[in-house]
Amino acid sequence: MSEVNYDLIIVGGGPAGLSAGIYAKRAALNTVLVEKGAMGGQVAITKGVENYPGFIDIEGFDLCNKFLEHSKSYDLEILNKEIDAIKPDIEHHRVRLVDGTYLKAHAVIIATGGTARKLEVEGEEENFGKGVSYCATCDGFFFRGKTVAVVGGGDTALEDALYLAKITKKVYLIHRRDEFRGSRILQQRVFAQSNIEITLDTVVGSIDSDDSGVTGLSLENVKNGEMFSIKVEGVFIFVGFSPNNRMVPAGIKKNRTGYVITDEKCETEIPGIFAIGDIRQKYANQIVLAAADGCTAALAAAHFVETRT
Ligand code: NAP
Repeated sequence: MSEVNYDLIIVGGGPAGLSAGIYAKRAALNTVLVEKGAMGGQVAITKGVENYPGFIDIEGFDLCNKFLEHSKSYDLEILNKEIDAIKPDIEHHRVRLVDGTYLKAHAVIIATGGTARKLEVEGEEENFGKGVSYCATCDGFFFRGKTVAVVGGGDTALEDALYLAKITKKVYLIHRRDEFRGSRILQQRVFAQSNIEITLDTVVGSIDSDDSGVTGLSLENVKNGEMFSIKVEGVFIFVGFSPNNRMVPAGIKKNRTGYVITDEKCETEIPGIFAIGDIRQKYANQIVLAAADGCTAALAAAHFVETRT
């Protein structure tokens, strides 16, 4: 069994993980960041980011590249590998990679983020990639000049409805309540966009399709029970996301919805194991907060490592 030693292992390469990497390297910790997919997490597939201080408007992908570039300027070691398990222990924690290698460190920071939640209606799974999408930036291009639906009422749904309105003929924005959860400024923009038709108090019964893909949605007005359908060629589902907590070791407390509960240092109940970014229970999920978590956890991890060596 091969084993590689570090002071700190960071799991996840989104804004939280990369920010932790920058602070950890500045604190002279022997650090490795492990990421199984593309760097940047959710932000890499986000369109214009308008609320990260210092950038009035920047593409999510470009912001991620800046984080990555910054972390590389400190020679942060990045392993493009998949993790199998995090095994806590008294002296050192171990991270097992799927290739069987073990990484060993005094401290581990979990920054595995979250994944888009499914609507879980008939026609969703079978039409994924055939009109059903969870990423407007990735798939919007295929619906140029067509009519699509966006389901959801949070910031993501509003932002992506606006994005899709620029490239498609028409966007139905379907939300299950009579008011949006998303921010005021996005709501104002959505209401002002002439080719967005807002459909409130409405839930999706099924996603209808033929051999070529999505053809429409069967809907229900939850206030008056009216059933109706609309014709669309694509449906973009933005109904929140769930924390990627599969790697969180047993014994670490999570809330009802699966977010990890930490103290103010982002440390979990297991000493030396930290959770940051979208996986951690906190007031809001924002890039700036994920980056702040990375800072807090790396500084706390540096202190923790000092007490162990
Ligand atoms: P969110 O805020 O959790 O919103 C999810 C939306 O989907 C809610 O409107 C919810 O309805 C609806 N929904 C949930 N389950 C549903 C179901 N089964 N059927 C129909 N509708 C359902 O998720 P999000 O929009 O992805 O945002 C996540 C976090 O990222 C938030 O903190 C958000 O502020 C942040 N974010 C920020 C920005 C930005 O600042 N630029 C951009 C994107 C995201 P209800 O309202 O009725 O619960």
